[in-house]
Amino acid sequence: MHKVKWIEIDLDAVRHNFRSIRKKVGNGIKILAIVKADAYGHGAVEVSKTLLKNGVDMLGVADPEEGIELRENNINVPILLLNPILPEQTEDVQRHSVGITVYSLNDVRKISEIVKKSHCSTKVHIEVDTGMGGTGVHPDKALSLIKSLSLIENLTIEGIFTHFHSCDEKDKSFTHEQTKIFKKTLKQLEGEKIHIPLIHAANSAAILDMPDSYFNMVRPGLILYGLFPSNHVSKGIDLKPVMSFKTRIINLKNLDSGSTVSYGRTFKASRPATVATIPVGYKDGFSRYFSNSGKVLINGKHTSIIGKVCMDRCFIDVTNVPNVNIGSEVVLYGKQKNETILIESSAESINTIPYEIVCNIGGKAAKKYISNGK
Ligand SMILES: *Cc1c(COP(=O)(O)O)cnc(C)c1O
Repeated sequence: MHKVKWIEIDLDAVRHNFRSIRKKVGNGIKILAIVKADAYGHGAVEVSKTLLKNGVDMLGVADPEEGIELRENNINVPILLLNPILPEQTEDVQRHSVGITVYSLNDVRKISEIVKKSHCSTKVHIEVDTGMGGTGVHPDKALSLIKSLSLIENLTIEGIFTHFHSCDEKDKSFTHEQTKIFKKTLKQLEGEKIHIPLIHAANSAAILDMPDSYFNMVRPGLILYGLFPSNHVSKGIDLKPVMSFKTRIINLKNLDSGSTVSYGRTFKASRPATVATIPVGYKDGFSRYFSNSGKVLINGKHTSIIGKVCMDRCFIDVTNVPNVNIGSEVVLYGKQKNETILIESSAESINTIPYEIVCNIGGKAAKKYISNGK
């Protein structure tokens, strides 16, 4: 079947971004690439395979199912689960050699019962709550938790980490504060001669702006996909966008002056107009907030969405675009001729973040993977 909408995923750009991150943090620091949420909508299996070929040290996922999917696709690099898991999920996760995040004595007790029965070793990372609030052990209780953990058979404490809540903001003082608290915990461990091999904190924004938070491993997510977390981070890294979203015109129609377009008659033609239909709507992850405000590229020209975005279509004013035909390619995100629509700018225009845009699109339309330029 000819595709009428598709997501292009440029795996060469993933490789490029990974190498840029490597260069930025230096060779001595390990990289735990975050591929949760199906690699932010980019396809976790394909992205992980590309990262693997380029020497990624570890992969991070949010849910057990995501880790297991990677194992079932023969991804054989260490994987860490970042979300807490239910005790009844422990066995499955352990069988697939997926590392887990722990932070309370309660989960440790439950996990230890399951782990004791097994003969394989379970790897855990301890999350220290330096301000994110939702999860993690309080810094004052980290030491005693770690001591209890070290008494459990078949359990290895592989890492300790924290997560920054505001590093993409202009004011970095919170991030400095969180780093300070985390370092204090590390100092306590040192004092007790407890050695945990992997220490990590830096997400994308911290990789760009806070070398002091690299420790011996970093956790990039968004920048792997060629996107900047906000306008308040340093752009001192060479990134290439990975995701493009494209479709084709499926209808063209001439409207008289005064005609209205789409639900609620929010657009009224002030002159005779030509309106194009594309088969993309909010069910494809194209936000309804783009009604009467979004732009797409047709023949390398920025053209406007008119009227409300519908569930599975929206309308574009092509009155002033030459050579538009049924079947003409339309770019919602990405490059066409010399023009580009950036996911970051589109996100900003509807008051959201690039993370949400890519997650919403990914998985909705068929993906075309580009590798070695093909
Ligand atoms: C999602 C996530 C990251 C990656 O964040 P980015 O801003 O995409 O780099 C890092 N660490 C943890 C714990 C996360 O949940």
